[in-house]
Amino acid sequence: MKSRRRPYSEQRPTDIGDGVWSVPVPIPGNPLGYTLIYAIESPSGPVLVDAGWNHPDAWLALRDGLSTAGMDIREVRGVVVTHFHPDHAGLAGQVRQESGAWVAMHEADVALIKNLHEIEDDVRRDSQAGMLRRAGANTIEVEEVTAHRMRPPALPDRILHDRDLIDLPGRRLRTVWTPGHTPGHVCLHLEDTGRIFTGDHVLPGITPHIGIYPYDRTDVDPLGDFLGSLEKVADLGMLEALPAHEWTFQDAAARARAIGAHHEEKLLQLAALLAEAGEPLTIWEVAARMTWNRPWEDLPSMLRGMAASEAAAHLRTLEVRGVIGRTPGVDPVRFAVHS
Ligand SMILES: [Zn+2]
Ligand SMILES: [Zn+2]
Repeated sequence: MKSRRRPYSEQRPTDIGDGVWSVPVPIPGNPLGYTLIYAIESPSGPVLVDAGWNHPDAWLALRDGLSTAGMDIREVRGVVVTHFHPDHAGLAGQVRQESGAWVAMHEADVALIKNLHEIEDDVRRDSQAGMLRRAGANTIEVEEVTAHRMRPPALPDRILHDRDLIDLPGRRLRTVWTPGHTPGHVCLHLEDTGRIFTGDHVLPGITPHIGIYPYDRTDVDPLGDFLGSLEKVADLGMLEALPAHEWTFQDAAARARAIGAHHEEKLLQLAALLAEAGEPLTIWEVAARMTWNRPWEDLPSMLRGMAASEAAAHLRTLEVRGVIGRTPGVDPVRFAVHS
């Protein structure tokens, strides 16, 4: 496939038809470059899908981009946030302040944000450090990863559930709950056009981060959820995809199937890796042996933490499927294939 990757500097607000505009908003200092905010026209003011990173440059890009589209940020009716990540939810609070818009998000991500608002920083750091140690991280890695803290986004004032219709007069914008990348990630099906806003769930060139936090959790299976959510999108049939990063593309279902196949392949490789090891491995050891976009030795601690979380999500799915198990009574946690 010809690469359509273009830097933020080459992105422009674009009328993509059916009363929908895409407005690129920069993510300062992030290789993803930008979030595509979508603005849907309505007689009572535009509704936005996502809002962008909370940064003055991003705010200006959003305000001016909407103005290019003939829309006034002070007249925004509502913001539907696909998930709580800062490149999506970051500016939602400021848009609400400026316009009186409602902000809507799925209940599972609302619960996460509430938690982030309530947790004390030292409690957060202790529990994160414990998680890293139990996964086999070393002292330096634990210190470097726990040093970071993100300011949580504003709490939404409307809570979404699967299949809810969004408050958008004259249009049919349907919530499609697609947990995996986050527990409350949603796609939004614009049913009167055959298009779907896919957030980070289905992207044309990359696959979203699927992690598990804490890494050794046994009550959830985010990758299993993600694979189910990919099928859910595929089952909607051929829809044009309007993703939050990269570029729009024709067939969301085909891409969803391809991403699912990619993870099934990764699961097979992981099971083989554990079988070859001949002894139970920690999450950290597994992550160090998996293939990433650069050698493990070159990954900074923060990215090692994300890689470990991704490894842990794949381990958990293999465990749920009965392919592998964790060795009882050991710390750090260790996994092995069932003999
Ligand atoms: Zn995300
Ligand atoms: Zn994103």
